[in-house]
Amino acid sequence: MLDIQKIRADFPILSQTVNGKPLVYFDNGATSQKPQVVIDAEVKYYQEINANIHRGVHTLSQLATDAYEVARGKVKEHINAKHTHEVLFTSGTTHGINLVANGFASILKPGDEVVVSSLEHHSNIVPWQMLCEKTGAILKVIPINDNGELIMEEFDKLLSDKTKIVTVNHISNALGIINPIKYIIDKAHAVGSAVLIDGAQAVPHLKPDVQELDCDFYAFSGHKMCGPTGTGILYGKEDWLNKLPPYQGGGEMIKEVTFEKTTYADLPHKFEAGTPNIAGGIVLGTAIDYLNEIGFDNIQSYEHELLEHATKRLSEIEGIRIYGTGKNKASVVSFNIDGIHPYDVGSIIDKLGIAVRTGHHCAQPIMNFFCIPGTIRASFSFYNTKEEIDAMVDAVKKAQTMLS
Ligand code: PLP
Repeated sequence: MLDIQKIRADFPILSQTVNGKPLVYFDNGATSQKPQVVIDAEVKYYQEINANIHRGVHTLSQLATDAYEVARGKVKEHINAKHTHEVLFTSGTTHGINLVANGFASILKPGDEVVVSSLEHHSNIVPWQMLCEKTGAILKVIPINDNGELIMEEFDKLLSDKTKIVTVNHISNALGIINPIKYIIDKAHAVGSAVLIDGAQAVPHLKPDVQELDCDFYAFSGHKMCGPTGTGILYGKEDWLNKLPPYQGGGEMIKEVTFEKTTYADLPHKFEAGTPNIAGGIVLGTAIDYLNEIGFDNIQSYEHELLEHATKRLSEIEGIRIYGTGKNKASVVSFNIDGIHPYDVGSIIDKLGIAVRTGHHCAQPIMNFFCIPGTIRASFSFYNTKEEIDAMVDAVKKAQTMLS
């Protein structure tokens, strides 16, 4: 059992009022709030050890380098990577996916196929479209059913020896659907394809085991899991990372530079050109420690209670439609009220202190599938409460009365 009030006290932002009302923060899918330990760790870095890493012999540089590499080790343990050098620091999920898509430009031939799903965030669609434009490869799309679930029989039919990479999210940001990624990974491997998993929405809720999943790449963002913005991780299997060319050229990623020939650094530095977000990387390690202290089993079971409560309470509202009604779901409820634009509901409930996301959630193909401009998305974290959900339901009812 989690002591939610004690946990809430860890997050200074949660005790403030917005528009004169207590803040109810249900935009966790966009970014999570940060506990005081994370905020303190960021300050401590700049107060005590700020220096550039991997470059200096001086003490501060070594301390900063050590702290950065300790954080990399924490991530390695957290996701159960086989090697620490398979863990690349990035600026976020978008960066990680673009790094892989860019690398595949040197692998794909015209007529090769890339499989994405209809449930993707734009950052797991557009880089692959750009790759296909560049290489003459063809983009294939796994369709969804009315519950917002991927249709696995259709996925099976898309696979062939032309499939070179399959890329899907672990959990959909717009609907909260948890995808059957183990099935997808195994099936894709059976035809010799690589697999990238976009874990942006999964890592706040669960602990991925990349060896057990056997995915080739797993990308995620630090800011959705209590860490700082501008941080992220790309896990890649050693063989794949050795096969792919560097993404950016610059300092840190070289062994030797001459005008005749430059050789690249070993992993992970080959993919880490330039000065990274040093404080961010270190503090991502702090965020991971914090989440592990709470425990992902506890997080998952409590968030499931929140999801059930929200689904039940929201279903009381006349004219509500919830999107993403599949069984396997994270703590996200995406909905609309008959005849009312989601933006109008979002704006009114904001005046009541309630922060939800409205719009297409960077997933326009899903909105097109349901023939809607967008949804109201409430995404819950372990620091939210059932009372906050009740406050949102009351606020939505009020908005409905005002707008009807
Ligand atoms: N993929 C999914 C499923 C997401 O939800 C998001 C962000 O909302 C991203 C990718 C992009 O993450 P970032 O903006 O941190 O790079």
